[in-house]
Parts: sequence; structure tokens; C-alpha cells
Amino acid sequence: MSKFTTFLLKVASRCNLDCTYCYEFKLADQSWKDQPHLMTSEVWRVSAEKISDYALKHELLSVGINLHGGEPLLLGKKNIRFLLSDFKSILSKNNINVSYGLQTNGVLLDQEWLDIFSEFNVRIGISLDGDPNAHDKNRVFFSGKGSYAIVREAINLCLSQAKNREVFGGTLAVIDVESDPIEVLHHFLDIGVKTVDFLFPDANWDSLPPGKKHFHETIYADWLIKVFNEYLRINDPSISIRIFETLIKLCLGYKHNMDIFGIAPIEILVISANGDLHALDSLKASLPTYLGKNILSDDFEYSTIAKTELGKAQTGGYENLADKCKACVNSLIPSFTYIRYG
Ligand code: SF4
Repeated sequence: MSKFTTFLLKVASRCNLDCTYCYEFKLADQSWKDQPHLMTSEVWRVSAEKISDYALKHELLSVGINLHGGEPLLLGKKNIRFLLSDFKSILSKNNINVSYGLQTNGVLLDQEWLDIFSEFNVRIGISLDGDPNAHDKNRVFFSGKGSYAIVREAINLCLSQAKNREVFGGTLAVIDVESDPIEVLHHFLDIGVKTVDFLFPDANWDSLPPGKKHFHETIYADWLIKVFNEYLRINDPSISIRIFETLIKLCLGYKHNMDIFGIAPIEILVISANGDLHALDSLKASLPTYLGKNILSDDFEYSTIAKTELGKAQTGGYENLADKCKACVNSLIPSFTYIRYG
């Protein structure tokens, strides 16, 4: 039976960037408008208590806590310290091991932040879409100015000393099919980043991702295949590209619960700044993801959420696919590697 194993806390519901493709602010789910700008200590403490109880009840030895936004660093250093201290003390009472992660756009990152993450054992990812042209095309400030220069400074800082490198988990890059895939890959390697993941801009059948005119076009696959071939040609085992590693594992028959591929139920629960529980972020491109519960007043169980229409989209796995999709998955490839949300 599946259980929630990763909890994504939206500690700030606003952002200091205005990225063109942002699924949080620009697509179907507009619930961020009703959220407080920052998560309160009440919400994160109740979240920690309930996650701890849940882990104990379901005999989970470890859970993942990911701090997200908007831009999570907007919560501020003092508050993040309080949050991490609270989580640490509450979850350690039940001897739950925790992997902490945080995804940032890097704009506010400085050495003091990295020291906090080092102290609390938080691994961070920074969003960088590639070289200055690729990045600045979409990842812009509200003035329209690109953010590459400041994000690059943040990455340089992460790579500048061993202690910082331990905190730095790599970069996330949203694919721009108009960029040169080989140049983008080599840009990461040239600046010293060897752990990269490529993300699809969130989209769906009715609202296709940028550049894609028809559902059956394969421009994103074509772009990624060029990166993959170059990655094979370079043949450096110290380079880690999660999307390829995940696909290779799936091909070899391993299970995983990465949300964009495969048919495994996804074991992630999203907790918004006001405590509202939401389904997986990828669904925000298509519909509001509020699950009708709030962490302050409700308990959460995987089995209960899995019975709701929205929950099924995330937790249903293979059984929840339409017959047509099951036939396609079965006939084309044996139960793996399709893009879950089109
Ligand atoms: S940094 Fe992230 S949350 Fe902020 S606008 Fe860009 S994509 Fe959206």
C-alpha cells in the first residue's frame, strides 16, 4: 500500500522572479492569490507534528521534507532557522530520519544561507536554464531583466568551497526547445555543474508546451535525445542527469515515484502556506489542486485522498488510467516511460 513519503511545504507563496512559464502563478491553479505570503510558525509546527505522527503510524523510517514556493528564501533566514529547528526537534522525538531539500531560484542566496543549510543538513537545488541566452529568455525579474548573472553568482558561491558543495545538490533546467541542447549541456559542465535535471514546461493536451503545435510532435524528445547522445559521448560517470537516470532505471525494471514518468502512484503531499493540502504541483497546469483539507484542522491519509477525483490523478497509478491509455502503454512499451500529464 502506498503512503506519503515526501512532504512539500510551500513556505512562501510569492516570488521575486516572474518566469514566463511558471506553473505556480501563470497556469490553471490560481489559488496562490488567496494564500498568505509566508507560512506561519503555527502551520509548520502542526505540519511537523502530523508528519511525525503519520510516519510513526505507518512505520516510515524516513521522510523527505522539501521547502518550496514561490521562492522559499523569501521566508527569511530567521524563520527558516526556526522552521528547521522545529522540524528537527519534533521529528526526532519519534526517531524519524529526515532528508531536507529546498529548491530556490538563487537570487537571494548568500554564504549565510549556505551556512544555515549546512548546519541543518539541507540539500538545495538551484534553477538555471542553461547559458545566459537560454536562461534570460524566460527567467526574468518583474522588470523584464534576466536573472542569469545573479543566479550564476549563487552557483559560483555553491561551488567555491567543499562545505558549500556538500549543500549544493545541482541545477534544475526547464527545457527551451529553441535553445541549442548541446550548448546548454556544455554550459553546465563549463561552469562546473555536473548534477543537472531537465524539466518539461508544465502543460497538457489542451494547452501544449511552448513550441509544440500538435500533441504528436516530438520536439521535446528530439531536444533531449541530442543531450542524451552528447552525455553518452562524453562518457563521464561523474555527470548526473536525473531524467536520463530515471528513464534508464525504468527500462531496467526498477520502480520510482518521479512524477513525470512511469505509472507508479506518487507519494508526495503538498502543504500550502496557509496549511491547505494540495495534490501534486504538475497538475497545477491543468486544474486547481486543492484537496479540500487543511493541515490545521484535518488529518491526512493516502487512502482517503486516493479516493477523491483529484487524488486519483496523483495516486491512482496504472489502475487509474483510461482504457485507451492502458492499451497504449501495454501495446507500445511494457508499463513504463510515458509522460503522465501529456
Ligand atoms: S522562480 Fe520558480 S516560482 Fe518563481 S516565478 Fe520562476 S518558476 Fe515561478
